[in-house]
Amino acid sequence: DVRVRFCPSPTGLPHVGMVRTALYNWAYARHTGGKLIFRVEDTDAARDSEESYRQLVDALTWLEIDWDEGVEKGGPHGPYRQSQRCEVYAEALDKLIASGAVYESYSTAEEIDARNEASGRAKQLGYDNYDRDLTDEQKVAFRAEGREPAWRLRVPEHDLTYVDLIRGEVTFPAGSFPDFVVVRAGGQALYTFTNPVDDALMGITHVIRGEDLMPSTARQLSLYAALIEAGVTDFMPRFGHMPLVLGETGNKKLSKRDPQADLFLLRDRGFIHEGLLNYLSLLGWSLASDRDVFSRDELVAAFDIADVNPNPARFDQKKAESINGDHIRMLAPADFAARLVPYLAAAGLVSQPLTESEQAMLDAAAPLVQERMQLLGDAPGLLGFLFRDEVAYEDDALGGLPANAGEVLVASVGALELVPEQGFTAAAVQDALAAALIEGLGLKPRVAYGPLRVALSGRRVSPPLFESMELLGKAESIHRLDTLVQ
Ligand code: GLU
Repeated sequence: DVRVRFCPSPTGLPHVGMVRTALYNWAYARHTGGKLIFRVEDTDAARDSEESYRQLVDALTWLEIDWDEGVEKGGPHGPYRQSQRCEVYAEALDKLIASGAVYESYSTAEEIDARNEASGRAKQLGYDNYDRDLTDEQKVAFRAEGREPAWRLRVPEHDLTYVDLIRGEVTFPAGSFPDFVVVRAGGQALYTFTNPVDDALMGITHVIRGEDLMPSTARQLSLYAALIEAGVTDFMPRFGHMPLVLGETGNKKLSKRDPQADLFLLRDRGFIHEGLLNYLSLLGWSLASDRDVFSRDELVAAFDIADVNPNPARFDQKKAESINGDHIRMLAPADFAARLVPYLAAAGLVSQPLTESEQAMLDAAAPLVQERMQLLGDAPGLLGFLFRDEVAYEDDALGGLPANAGEVLVASVGALELVPEQGFTAAAVQDALAAALIEGLGLKPRVAYGPLRVALSGRRVSPPLFESMELLGKAESIHRLDTLVQ
C-alpha cells in the first residue's frame, strides 16, 4: 500500500512551493487509496517555530488537504515530531554501528584541509575518508586527547542508480561525495540521517518532493541501503522529484519571500480554496491539455505521479485568478454570498454577524457580481456603494464625466420621480430612463448611463445599473443623482 509523507521544516509562512508538495502527496495518497503521513522536521530549534507549524496546518485545513497520521492525528509510528524522536535516532545509530555501516571519525575541518593541501587533493572534495580504517590504538589515542567522534556513513564505491518517478533513470557516479556525517560529535543527528530513518520506520513507499532536494538523494540512497543491511527496514522507497516553481518573470525560483508565494496573502486577496487548489495542481501536472478547470474529486481521480512534468512550472497570477473566477461562478449563490462576508466586514462595510438588512442586501446584491468576479477581495470595491450611506467618488470616475453630465442627471431625476415607489424595479427604472435619455435626449446608452453609474457607485465600473437602483430604492437613488448634480 502506498504511504507518502509531507515533512516540512516549520519555518516562515506557508508558501506555494510547500503547499504544492503537500498537495501532490495528498492527491497521490487519495488516488491510490494510500496514506499521507505529516511529519514535522523540527530539528533546528533556532529556526523552527510552533507558530509556523500552526499556520501550515491552518493553510492545509483551509485547502481541505487532510492527512492520516500526524502530530494531532496520532498513528502507529509516532511521535511525528522529529524533536521528540532522539531515542529513535540513537537506536538506529546503534544498529548501524553494529552492522559496521558507520564509523567514528575524529578529523577536524582544519585537519582535513591540511591533509588535502599536503597531498594536492582538491579542497572542494572535502573529507578524504581518512578515518575509515583507524586502528583501535588510534581511536584510544584520540579519545585520550578529549576528542569525541562524529559518526560517518561508509559510502559505497560504485555508481548509485535509481529510477526517479518523474525523471526516469538517474545515476550518481561513484566518488561524487565522501563518507558523510550522520550524527555529530555530541549526538546531534543530521537531516541526511533523520529523514531516511524516519521514512524507513514509517514505512514510506514513495518520497515525493522538490527538485531542490535531489542532491541529497544520493546520500539517502546509500543510507537506505545501510538501513536495509542493518535490518531497520526491508525495502527502498521510490523517489520522485517535482519541478521547480518559477516566479512570474525570468528564470528565478519563486522565493518564499515573494508575495505571490504567500498563501495567506493569496487567501486575503480572495482566492477560494477550490480555485487555488485547482491552480496549484497545475504547477507541474495537468488533467488534460484542453482543461484547466476541474474539481478536487476530478483531480484525485486523475492524479498520477508518473504524469508529473519534470520541466519547471511558472506561477501565472492571471491564470490563477481566471481559474479562481471559474470556481467562484460554480459556487451555489448562498455559499458565494456567505464567503463575501469576511471581505466586506474587513473593509468595514458590514457587521459580523450581519444585521437583517445587511443580509437582505447581500443576498440581493451577490448575484449581480458572482459572474464577474475573479477574487473575493474585489467585493468591497464592487459592492461597497450598496452598504455605505455616502458615495465615495473615485478620481478617474469624476474626471471622466462628460460635459453634459448635469443635464443627464437632471433628466434622470425627473424621469425617476414618476416611477411609483412600490414599482421601483430594475425593469421599470430601465424603461423610464431609456424613454428620458435615449429617446428624449437622443443619447447613446454608454453616454447616457455613465454619469448615473458614477452618481450611484462613485466608480466607472459597477454591478448592473438598473438592478443597483432597485436595491438602493427610489429615494436613495434620486438622492445620489441629486448629490452629484450639486
Ligand atoms: N524537511 C525537509 C524540507 O523541508 C524535507 C525534505 C524531504 O521531503 O525529504 O526540506
